[in-house]
Amino acid sequence: MTTHAAGQADVRAIDALLAGYASGALSPPLYALVASHLAISPQNRGFVSFLEAAHGCELEQREPAALSNRDAMLAAIFEQPEVRPERSVRLDPVLPPPLVRYMGCGLQDVPWKRLLPGVREYKVADAPDYEAVLYWIRAGRKMPQHTHEGAEITLVLQGAFSDVYGHYARGDISVADQDVEHRPIADPGEDCICFAVTDAPLRLTGPIGRVMQRIFGH
Ligand code: ZN
Repeated sequence: MTTHAAGQADVRAIDALLAGYASGALSPPLYALVASHLAISPQNRGFVSFLEAAHGCELEQREPAALSNRDAMLAAIFEQPEVRPERSVRLDPVLPPPLVRYMGCGLQDVPWKRLLPGVREYKVADAPDYEAVLYWIRAGRKMPQHTHEGAEITLVLQGAFSDVYGHYARGDISVADQDVEHRPIADPGEDCICFAVTDAPLRLTGPIGRVMQRIFGH
């Protein structure tokens, strides 16, 4: 899935996101983010082994009915219309169909606003407990150092960026929680486009915390 040197916390947070996605516990923009990640990286080995491990534990303790549940989950994940192009959604070379559907437009029609020199943004959603923003960052541009009110989950759609935690290319998800102060830098050579969702801490720890508790039994 990823080529960057993601920390253990990143991997754990992404597994939690995938679990939240599979159980329908995510907010609409996070759901679109994870569906887009899966559309770009369908062979997500981490995701599959996560599901296998989680359901393997369940299978040891449960009735055979769990088998059909597992099949249904895998079918839901890999056969969902979200990860397939639809006639109504014109294929966008950068934005995967789930994101085009969520945003209601392709990259050509994004009403960008200039945020800083070399940085444009389009605020897709601004709800009380989450915010979703599409960013366009000029190649080589340094973002201002910042912290977050909640967790910031970013999916790279074009180009790449690095911060103190690693290097993230198309299809990679970066997770920065409210304790993190970082300064992402776009790779030289290609402008970076990414979709970032900021979730209030309670929003993230609530459903995902419950999902993790159910799966790992702690
Ligand atoms: Zn950030």
